[in-house]
Amino acid sequence: MASPSDPRSYDLDALRTRGLPERGGKIDDSIPQLADADPELHAIAIALPDGELRSSAQGRVSFTLQSAVKPFLFALALLDTDGGALDRVGIEPTGEAFDAVKLESGTGRPPNPMVNAGALLTASLVSGDDPASRADRIARGLAAFAARELEVDEDVAHNEHLLGDRNHALAHLMRAEGTLTVSADDAVEVYARACATLVDAETLALMGATLALGGVNPRTGQRVVPATVARDVISVMATCGVYDGSGRWMRAVGVPAKSSVSGAIVLSAPGRLGAAVVSPPLDEQGTSVRGRVAAQALSDDLDLHSFTLR
Ligand code: GLU
Repeated sequence: MASPSDPRSYDLDALRTRGLPERGGKIDDSIPQLADADPELHAIAIALPDGELRSSAQGRVSFTLQSAVKPFLFALALLDTDGGALDRVGIEPTGEAFDAVKLESGTGRPPNPMVNAGALLTASLVSGDDPASRADRIARGLAAFAARELEVDEDVAHNEHLLGDRNHALAHLMRAEGTLTVSADDAVEVYARACATLVDAETLALMGATLALGGVNPRTGQRVVPATVARDVISVMATCGVYDGSGRWMRAVGVPAKSSVSGAIVLSAPGRLGAAVVSPPLDEQGTSVRGRVAAQALSDDLDLHSFTLR
């Protein structure tokens, strides 16, 4: 294998250009705003331990976090419950789609925090007495990971709240099992708002880096979550972050990650860096097609695979 490239001088624009001819995949059309995403958007960013942020062209183009918010919701839930969230949500991969209407057999808990059931639950566990205060707490938590205030796309939040039938079904199922303690509608509202948070590739890379660096934001120096929380979150990203494609992802890319329907993928390479890749067309498991290609090349070129002997 060629010797690894230096992340400080690695050519992210060349990597982006290599991925552009890839035309596979399909844009999510669950709500009009996602269906309207630009199929040509493709950006790659990395955030390094000294806080340096590097990105390709389009590294500052906005998109909604969607499921890339799930690791951060899990982190905030662990923080606000002092680890109690681990009793309320499982940590086993499902081998099923992100929105499967299915809970853990025997316990009625969501299977893990990286599928919709789990994220509906973790979003309900952050501190706050009502949906508005929980949404505010999530916004403040995400801002600490991002080192800046993040806006919410109000139309996306509204439509996902209104049109997320499977999320409503999951929330009602968890109410029936006694595992969700807020109302089903409140749970969907807060989760939909978190999914509708706007970021760009640079910001998402920094959020991933904060997890990769033990919970300390490398730009602000702020400890956002304890190191044990960051480790728990990254562990579950590694096993469950790419849904029913998690095994294939870990073998090929080898970096804990979370995919999303907006075509964004956040990666956390422990102790090394955070990265984000975005391109809206998705494969059958809901993973960005160009994102996967870019992530694998990034992992190969920068020698990021978790299980490479060094
Ligand atoms: N907001 C989306 C949903 O709940 C997120 C799913 C995803 O990004 O995989 O359907």
